Amino acid sequence: MNDHAVVARVDRVSRLFEVRGERVLALDEVTADVPRGRLLAIAGPSGSGKSTLLAELGALDRPTTGTVTIGDRDITALGRRARRSIRRTQVATVLPQPSDNLLVRRTGVHNLRVAMRQRGGMASWVQRVIDDVDIGDFVDRMAGTMSGGEQQRLALACALVGGTPLVLADEPTGALDDVSAGHVIDALVRAVSFGATIVVATHDPAVMDACHQVVRLDHGRRVE
Ligand code: ADP
Ligand code: MG
Repeated sequence: MNDHAVVARVDRVSRLFEVRGERVLALDEVTADVPRGRLLAIAGPSGSGKSTLLAELGALDRPTTGTVTIGDRDITALGRRARRSIRRTQVATVLPQPSDNLLVRRTGVHNLRVAMRQRGGMASWVQRVIDDVDIGDFVDRMAGTMSGGEQQRLALACALVGGTPLVLADEPTGALDDVSAGHVIDALVRAVSFGATIVVATHDPAVMDACHQVVRLDHGRRVE
């Protein structure tokens, strides 16, 4: 496999929001590549466009101008059904509030099995991701009884278990203390070492330090 292959790309992507006459240019001509097998940070202050950029990469939103490519497919112009299919088979997004990603009344293992089936993964991938991300200590517990950091690691495992080429995580340490954040960072690094490609939106310097590469945004513009 080519180490320098690109899993996804945004090319001169702009996103203009218009709410009650107010215009916000959340992304301003952003170009970036997501290299395969890497941990890539989207960094920048609050409001700089990180979540919007993840939404473009995750086929959750459509840019005003510019193109988004996943694999070798331009997803920008795809219709709703095709975009849903992309979200199932090509890219998995972990939302910032970990419990939003989980069935809190089910065990971690149950959550993983559901996520695996939704994405058409194989049963054997559940145990593999438990080992890869190192969540065996708590994965048999009900998700709702896990700590925020444990939930975040489980949510990451659920995103990974379907085997999509790309995984996105929005502020995965945003709600956590330093120790829990450290465990989440370890999980991200482990997942990438086992072959995943992860893009993480963050303003946490500890996460950025763990990343291979940082794309920095300021007021919607790429500045690094
Ligand atoms: P970050 O994740 O870096 O904090 P966001 O991508 O969430 O930044 O937001 C970038 C800018 O776009 C902000 O000014 C935000 O208020 C605006 N924005 C984001 N989503 C919407 C939306 N759905 N409607 C209107 N404005 C939005
Ligand atoms: Mg955000």
